[in-house]
Amino acid sequence: MTDVNMNEKEKFKAGKSALNQLKKPIKIEIFIAQLIAFISCLLVFLPYKKLIQIANLVFWDQSSLQTHEVSKLIFAIFGYYALRKFLYIISLTITHVADLKLRNYLKFLIIAFIQRMPISYLIYQGSGQVRKMVQDDTPTIHQMIAHAPVDLLVAIMNPLVLFVYLLYINWKLAILAISTLPLYFFFYLWTTRGMSEKTVILDQKLGLVSKTMGEFISGISVVRAFGKAGTALKQYQIAAKDFSDFYKDWCRPQVRSAAIAQIWVSIPVLLFVNLGVGNLLIRNHMATSVQVLVSSLIALMLPESLEAVMTILWSYQLAGAAALRIHNNFQDKSQIFVEEKNSKHPQRNNVAYDHVSFSYGMHEVLNQIQLQLKPNTVTALIGPSGSGKSTLATLLARFHDPEEGEISIDEISLRNLSSKTLYENISFVLQDAQILMMSIHDNIALAKPSASREEVEHAAKAAQIHNEIIKFPYGYDSVYGKDVELSGGQEQRIAIARAILQNAPIVILDEATAMSDPESEDKIQIALNQLMKGKTILVIAHRLASIRGADNIVILDKGKICASGKHEELLENKHYQALLSQQEVSL
Ligand code: ADP
Ligand code: MG
Repeated sequence: MTDVNMNEKEKFKAGKSALNQLKKPIKIEIFIAQLIAFISCLLVFLPYKKLIQIANLVFWDQSSLQTHEVSKLIFAIFGYYALRKFLYIISLTITHVADLKLRNYLKFLIIAFIQRMPISYLIYQGSGQVRKMVQDDTPTIHQMIAHAPVDLLVAIMNPLVLFVYLLYINWKLAILAISTLPLYFFFYLWTTRGMSEKTVILDQKLGLVSKTMGEFISGISVVRAFGKAGTALKQYQIAAKDFSDFYKDWCRPQVRSAAIAQIWVSIPVLLFVNLGVGNLLIRNHMATSVQVLVSSLIALMLPESLEAVMTILWSYQLAGAAALRIHNNFQDKSQIFVEEKNSKHPQRNNVAYDHVSFSYGMHEVLNQIQLQLKPNTVTALIGPSGSGKSTLATLLARFHDPEEGEISIDEISLRNLSSKTLYENISFVLQDAQILMMSIHDNIALAKPSASREEVEHAAKAAQIHNEIIKFPYGYDSVYGKDVELSGGQEQRIAIARAILQNAPIVILDEATAMSDPESEDKIQIALNQLMKGKTILVIAHRLASIRGADNIVILDKGKICASGKHEELLENKHYQALLSQQEVSL
């Protein structure tokens, strides 16, 4: 994904440019917000000006007018302060609105990205990466967009304006106010050499920790089944230890530099230098006491501003890494679906497997499959467990792509269909019904979110589940996993209702009755008959009795088609006989 040849410095730069790239759609808003913040910064010296006037009045003017004047000046100080805060709030509001706009745009990009990735990628490798992008990277960038442009400007401009003001009232005091800064920067830079690159590595290592953790958790069933729990956990432990070692190395100079550098902008040192040397200047008639008072107050603002600048610059690095990750994801070449505008559109839904072979790694699962699924017919796929039935079916939904050969709909290769077109044309009811934690209505309407309540109910009725749904605590609005639990048979019928509503012309059924309880089975059969009307059907049969009437029965054995035909034609076939006799025993 990321170019392994890139060195860390280049990656840091790439992160910066990726961030700028992402900010592009809201450039104007950010500019206006910064302009307003800039104006508020220009006002920052006014309270100090009034303060000098107050001090002059208090120290030198003993007349009766004094109290009145002073209270007027204090009001003015408050007024300036309120005005500045007001401008600041306006500019932050603008950046927040801009951030909302950007977030919608990113959401749109992420959805488009997910749609174009192969499902197998999302299931097996990519889920961690997508989760990081949505959960971690997008909020990191939010911080950068909604706050940093204004905060950074304010943190730099405020001390700068005050410095210019100090130059104006007494240049010697101005120099004095910033006299400790070179020492601060020297110690800071000296102890944090190469930190930017290291922060990028730190972030990558953290990514690796969450990736291996994600792999360990999401693959736990497979890992356990093969008795490899120890190995997978070890990988996580190695990544975690590597991260913590690196983090310690990363922290140590940070802490040291923070401590040594911070001394030079700490309040006691600032007061000592400004008041101490200021006192000498007063004695030599090079400054007045009021000037020294004000310049000391201004110098005390330094630590706060510096800290703000440092924090923002640091989060800028993290945001750069996050932006780079998002950017790289969007560039990912393993996206397999063509874009919507380049998609072709099948009309008749004639599916053909042409010399299709497929293996999981070294393990060959399908070998030179030749198969046609004709419109308005039912093709039943049977064979021993592990013979490759599910794999053959899911290739049609592009869970994986064949290594050899081609699958096409109306002679259009699946590779030339957008995911939208493909999933409009294909619906599947798989063993695992995939009911999500949302309302029953939304679960059924998953493939057609615009469906009305009537359409959803209609599909549920056809799927023989309506009468059970209306008995749930909130009917169709009951949330799965919160308000209701479902039996295996109910889940299957909800998945069937979903497919009926989607009304795609090609339907894949994978052992759809396998999980059901006996009383559900008949209902499921009725539901399936509703779903299968007038479509191109590929059904992986659990009970041979249910596919006796299929237009074509295909027998799969060790990844090869060993026979096909109607029930009557196959009665003499030894594979079919073997499967039939097995069934009689098990039924
Ligand atoms: P069936 O549906 O006929 O039982 P499958 O298509 O599910 O067969 O599996 C065919 C073979 O491929 C089996 O040996 C199975 O262990 C293997 N297999 C299935 N899915 C995967 C996977 N995701 N990764 C590796 N091997 C798999
Ligand atoms: Mg299977």
